[in-house]
Amino acid sequence: MTGPVHIDEIFNSIQGEGIFTGVRQVFVRFLGCPLDCGYCDTPHSRLPAAPVCKVERIPGTGEFMDIPNPVDMDTLVKIIEDVWSPATRHLSLTGGEPLTQTDCIIELSGNLDHPLYLETNGCLPDEARKVQYVVDVAACDIKLPEHKATQDYQSLLKAELETVGIFYDAGAVTFAKCVVTDRTSGNDLDIIASGLSDIDGTLPLVLQPVTSCPGFEPPASKRLLELMDAAGEYLKDVRAVPQVHKMMGQL
Ligand code: SF4
Repeated sequence: MTGPVHIDEIFNSIQGEGIFTGVRQVFVRFLGCPLDCGYCDTPHSRLPAAPVCKVERIPGTGEFMDIPNPVDMDTLVKIIEDVWSPATRHLSLTGGEPLTQTDCIIELSGNLDHPLYLETNGCLPDEARKVQYVVDVAACDIKLPEHKATQDYQSLLKAELETVGIFYDAGAVTFAKCVVTDRTSGNDLDIIASGLSDIDGTLPLVLQPVTSCPGFEPPASKRLLELMDAAGEYLKDVRAVPQVHKMMGQL
């Protein structure tokens, strides 16, 4: 049995990114992330620990209660079941970086009868291998150099593509996401799209214009279409989807 884990928050909301946009999910946001993206909208979740985990009392109210960290497995399972609802389809494992907590993910999969949706930055392929057969959906973020997520971009990109391949080969529904800005170069996107097409040219790539982030501006409309076409030279399924949960005022 895995030990208690530090969790940032647990709530029920609407997935606002990627190919499952609009799907109702329970979100478990794990603490801890080895990257340092300039656009990170949950910077507190990069820390490995926090005194309390916030749990939404009633879905959609934004009213949270605090429970002490770390959270043991029985408590975690009970909270997830308590905040589940009839329209909810996935348990979204997010962060931070949930692959820092693979023991917990494996134990959760054995304790719950809900599909697991993993949101990962893909930087930990060895950890991805440990959970490859328990994850139903793998939403893999691919970083661009301008995100300044790491000092060694080439190694990060290699790890991210390896992680995409691990989940794809394991049979998970797998797709890639990339946050694009007004500085995104077609050449950088070419390299990502080419790497994804080496795995499978039908893998969906979702370009997500950056939203509400100091220091980052989204690409203009024409530029976004150009970026889609750059990726479309390699991939059959390139989409552009903003963070729609924020438009709907959801968490
Ligand atoms: S990978 Fe995600 S949690 Fe980690 S720094 Fe980047 S945006 Fe933040």
